[in-house]
Amino acid sequence: MPLPLSGTNFTAYSGLAELLDRNYVHSKVAGAVIEAYDALSKSHKELVFVYGETGHQKGGSFPPHRTHQNGLSVDFMVPVRNTNGKPASLPTNPFNRYGYGLEFDRQGRMRGYQIDFEAIALHLEALHRSAKRSGLGMQRVILDPAYHPALFATSQGPSLRSQLTFRPHQAWVRHDEHYHVDFSLPCKPLR
Ligand SMILES: [Zn+2]
Repeated sequence: MPLPLSGTNFTAYSGLAELLDRNYVHSKVAGAVIEAYDALSKSHKELVFVYGETGHQKGGSFPPHRTHQNGLSVDFMVPVRNTNGKPASLPTNPFNRYGYGLEFDRQGRMRGYQIDFEAIALHLEALHRSAKRSGLGMQRVILDPAYHPALFATSQGPSLRSQLTFRPHQAWVRHDEHYHVDFSLPCKPLR
């Protein structure tokens, strides 16, 4: 099913995502993603989130991504704060390849924006909780390894580090402007 294009505290990276057939996920994943945003809208009202690409309605090859073929992968654009320290939405438009063309430096800064690592941590923590409730696993998280120390230094850092698997080395594309989450379905018991 498609993720909603927007909610109280989140938007899709493009209002065209659904039209372009690029925001489909497994229904359990959709439930977990929405539930996590919902929890954050109550616990941390000020934060805003943008999700990225997920997959096609019927799954299958999803260039330029190497995964995203089975409805279990979701890209989340990094939550940011502006120069006044206020939560802001990452500008995503055709001119910056819907956010994917943005480049942050090693400290997570980019013209007028700073990655909000605390918000990433809170989001991952909320996602992990809602995924568990939906009977999903969170198989792995991909975020630029240069940002792991900042993420692990947040309030949720130690528990995220012990409970989730972070890809320890650079992926085939740099994950500075988004983090990628692979969910997993429970294995069917052998008969
Ligand atoms: Zn991805």
